[in-house]
Amino acid sequence: MTRPYLGNPKYTIEILQKYDFVFQKRFGQNFLIDTHVLDKIICASGITKEDFVLEIGPGIGTMTQYLAEAAREVTAVEIDDALIPILKDTLKEWDNVAVIHGDILKTDIRRIAFEKNNGKPIKVVANLPYYITTPIIMGLFENQVPIDSITIMVQKEVAERMQVGPGTKDYGALSLAVQYYAKPEIVANVPPNCFMPRPKVGSAVIRLTRHEHPPVQVEDEKLMFRLIRASFNQRRKTLVNGLKNSQELDFSKEEIEGALEKCGLPLNIRGEALTLEKFAELANIFI
Ligand code: SAM
Repeated sequence: MTRPYLGNPKYTIEILQKYDFVFQKRFGQNFLIDTHVLDKIICASGITKEDFVLEIGPGIGTMTQYLAEAAREVTAVEIDDALIPILKDTLKEWDNVAVIHGDILKTDIRRIAFEKNNGKPIKVVANLPYYITTPIIMGLFENQVPIDSITIMVQKEVAERMQVGPGTKDYGALSLAVQYYAKPEIVANVPPNCFMPRPKVGSAVIRLTRHEHPPVQVEDEKLMFRLIRASFNQRRKTLVNGLKNSQELDFSKEEIEGALEKCGLPLNIRGEALTLEKFAELANIFI
């Protein structure tokens, strides 16, 4: 291989030293230094030379190099000023990569998808900064970004939360939101020694494949998600109390009890026992 591939810890250290790079904890910086994990992510993402890929948080460009080899075009959004000159250096051999210096939460990803991929569904791949995992995922789904799949490294517990159903302690608003929009599959568990510096938690790669049609029919999605949030905000309370106490909803106790009865649910049920289908049914009754 003639190109200066990162992914090998030796090259990562060389680049970090060359630029006197200081890791920023506040940006969740844990760089991948394991080529097997990188290969696994690329393989799981199913990227082909037809694809436009958005990478969130390229760091020093390790995974970006792999993405550039596999995809037609890559755009990577990085917040840290100090990484911009480094990316210019490490990605100079690839002419199908653009780096945007900015905050992903303030980036108009929908516009990027339209400009770079004619509005066709894009693939998102990232080793995410863990401190903003949920807002990033929800932003991608809720802001009508045309998405084909999202293949991401997240904290292991968060990956598990996205996959589980009712009756488990990890089941919550994130599980329901992810499963409404996509099919989640954990494709690899990744130990801390695959990163520099090592994170304190275990990580996992999860692929979220966007549903062509949501698995449930719901007339007002926003209302369903308000019901879901209210149910899990007060997990230990009954569903009736959770919904009644919510700042986001304005239903009387009688209205809530009436809706539960119509759904065939006992009045003492907790929100954590409801499936996505039941939340959809409940939302359709409240309309
Ligand atoms: N992709 C690289 C890798 O795998 O080695 C770095 C991954 S590191 C876990 C997360 C990256 O996201 C860092 O480069 C960090 O600076 C960047 N980042 C953190 N917050 C961000 C934000 N709000 N917008 C864009 N990038 C962000």
